[in-house]
Amino acid sequence: MSQNEDLFLKIINREIPADIVYEDDKVIAFKDISPSAPVHLLIVPLKHIKTTDDIQAEDKELIGHIVFVATKLARENNIAESGYRMQFNCREHGGQMVYHIHLHLVGGKQLPHF
Ligand code: 5GP
Repeated sequence: MSQNEDLFLKIINREIPADIVYEDDKVIAFKDISPSAPVHLLIVPLKHIKTTDDIQAEDKELIGHIVFVATKLARENNIAESGYRMQFNCREHGGQMVYHIHLHLVGGKQLPHF
């Protein structure tokens, strides 16, 4: 396991600090250390799944829960009305740096269209 892969497990285990905004028995959410917008949260399953390519049928409910939590956090952070982006990056071409899946919730400004 690489150092980066280990990183979010360390946050989950409180071995390194993070600005945690939500936690339940399946996921944790915290502020991105290098935000790309006024609101930039990461929603991370407690279960270690390396990439979205490793998601199994048994994980479908968990993935739905991650997205559902993101919608709740969007409302709490007052970006639901203006809009936001949810994004999973996968492997090198997707720009994934931490190999423990996480959903980016980004908003609070106009994001570039692509
Ligand atoms: P990825 O590129 O893997 O999709 O996203 C990883 C994200 O984790 C990046 O946006 C990066 O800024 C964030 N990140 C990296 N290290 C840390 C850290 O130690 N703490 C927090 N809160 N976020 C981190």
